[in-house]
Amino acid sequence: MTERYVRPYVGPESTEHRGVCLYAPNPGESICAVDATRHVLVDSPTYGPVGLASCGDHVAIARATGRVLGEHPFAGVCGLPSTRWSTEGCDLDASGVEPGRG
Ligand SMILES: [Zn+2]
Ligand SMILES: [Zn+2]
Repeated sequence: MTERYVRPYVGPESTEHRGVCLYAPNPGESICAVDATRHVLVDSPTYGPVGLASCGDHVAIARATGRVLGEHPFAGVCGLPSTRWSTEGCDLDASGVEPGRG
């Protein structure tokens, strides 16, 4: 019972929309910021379903933040506001409903 493994978790909502990896070693520290290649949808214990932009080096950490609901290559409109998750890639969503709330 001495195991002290701390699982990775999702930090506060990012205002970064450049399509870069949002991994940070600790809250408030600089993000990885290399071009994102994977978009992972996880069911975060804190936020519920949330899409995470990640580079190849950090995608395993992104997947470990919660139950993985889906994953696709990071491309096109991924990470932008007003997008809707689909298996193949994010689509622009004209309804104005945030992903995960419908
Ligand atoms: Zn990264
Ligand atoms: Zn996406």
